[in-house]
Amino acid sequence: MKQFHNFINGEFVATGKTFENRNPATNAVVGLVHEAGQAEVDAAVDAAHAALKGDWGRMSVVKRTELLHAVADEINRRFDDFLEAELADTGKPRSLASHIDIPRGAANFKVFADIVKNVPTESFQMTTPDGGTAVSYAIRSPLGVVGVICPWNLPLLLMTWKVGPALACGNTVIVKPSEETPATATLLGEVMNAVGVPKGVYQVLHGFGPGSAGEFITKHPRVNGITFTGETRTGEAIMAAAAKGVRPVSFELGGKNAGIVFDDADFDKAVAGITRSAFENCGQVCLGTERVYVQRPIFDRFVAALKASAEGLKVGPSDEPGVNLGPLISAEHRQKVLGYYAKAKDEGATVVTGGGVPAMQGEFANGHFVQPTIWTGLPESASVVREEIFGPCCHIAPFDTEEEAIALANATDYGLATTVWTQNLGTAHRMAAAIEVGLCWINSWFLRDLRTAFGGAKASGIGREGGVHSLEFYTELRNVMVKL
Ligand code: NAD
Repeated sequence: MKQFHNFINGEFVATGKTFENRNPATNAVVGLVHEAGQAEVDAAVDAAHAALKGDWGRMSVVKRTELLHAVADEINRRFDDFLEAELADTGKPRSLASHIDIPRGAANFKVFADIVKNVPTESFQMTTPDGGTAVSYAIRSPLGVVGVICPWNLPLLLMTWKVGPALACGNTVIVKPSEETPATATLLGEVMNAVGVPKGVYQVLHGFGPGSAGEFITKHPRVNGITFTGETRTGEAIMAAAAKGVRPVSFELGGKNAGIVFDDADFDKAVAGITRSAFENCGQVCLGTERVYVQRPIFDRFVAALKASAEGLKVGPSDEPGVNLGPLISAEHRQKVLGYYAKAKDEGATVVTGGGVPAMQGEFANGHFVQPTIWTGLPESASVVREEIFGPCCHIAPFDTEEEAIALANATDYGLATTVWTQNLGTAHRMAAAIEVGLCWINSWFLRDLRTAFGGAKASGIGREGGVHSLEFYTELRNVMVKL
């Protein structure tokens, strides 16, 4: 059986304690994951600090960024290995992982290497009170050892989104992949060794949150900063851990995102866009749309079209031809999502489509598949309209005016993303300014330019990553004032 080891100081390390890794499409045990304890965390932190003081810390920016290009090239050379590892962990459609997860995983190293190489720091000249001159300039130094705590929904992509800029800035990282998806982070250790990244620069520790590697990393006083993607509730626990020693955090958290469709939208494009935003990756995308608001004149037509579109989606295993939706990540998560499907009915929803489990054949009958689901008719106070479900489902409600749509979109503690569909330029820009989110898509969704700021407002996050914004977190800016 496949073994997923920790990667500490350039070596793959077994521990006495393992837990099972299951394939979500079949629920079969496919591997054993070696859980890191406090001793492994301590060893990784020591190795990470040694690397900062050693070859890695002394390496020129040019050499460092060349190495990161080599990492990206090696991921691409081993594209199929990464793809198979990601598919075994997540069960997502092969077409999705091969177009998004793996290529973006590689791109994250190149993009941030190039940004770090090209971004200048500020410099000012001033006249001093005695009539002389002073010049100040800024230099950036790495934050140090960065703890990278990752979720399971886009494992390689979201992990490298943080590891890429952290390493480009000269830090060392200790990655804790989700317990559900240990594979690609482990494989990346092989890549680091193959291209000659010094030991201790990239390390992987497996395990869970409380009482396990997640807690031990985030509480470690010599971990200098923590970057985290995951649930808001987990973010609260990590923030409390980081308070000790006043260590900085960067958080990308949960959402309950609104999609807003005006009656002047390009109808077919809006239906296709909301189909993606509600159901892609089986609804397991933080940016996904679980609340859809449609202007009343086109409401009935839109609901009918989205129903037809959802019913046209094929649910199944990664390699079934034409498959659009894989399984949910785990039995536990399916139980949570089906719990919301039941709650929606209890709270009086009209089930437009779905609401249950699709019939699967053979070994896939044990997989964690659910039907894409659409509800209407619920009040804004209903659980499925307020709470993040993280499944392939949405509630659709009508609205009349722009002001009403803004109020509905903002009536949540979250503030991650929105997608607005309209052909009126004025409406689009007013909505973008009024909806309290970190990311606003107009006539699009999940369209990314890696140079732009990414992150959430309100309970959806702290800070922004992406482009030069990542440098703000992964470096300390020092101002040097020189009296001439
Ligand atoms: P999660 O919070 O359950 O787990 C994320 C990671 O945190 C895992 O590695 C887990 O082991 C670890 N962890 C859990 N408790 C911990 C603790 N007390 N201390 C340290 N580490 C701990 O999230 P998940 O279920 O893996 O992912 C889904 C969630 O992530 C959703 O809420 C989703 O919206 C969010 N998400 C947000 C973004 C974004 O960019 N804003 C992107 C993807 C996912």
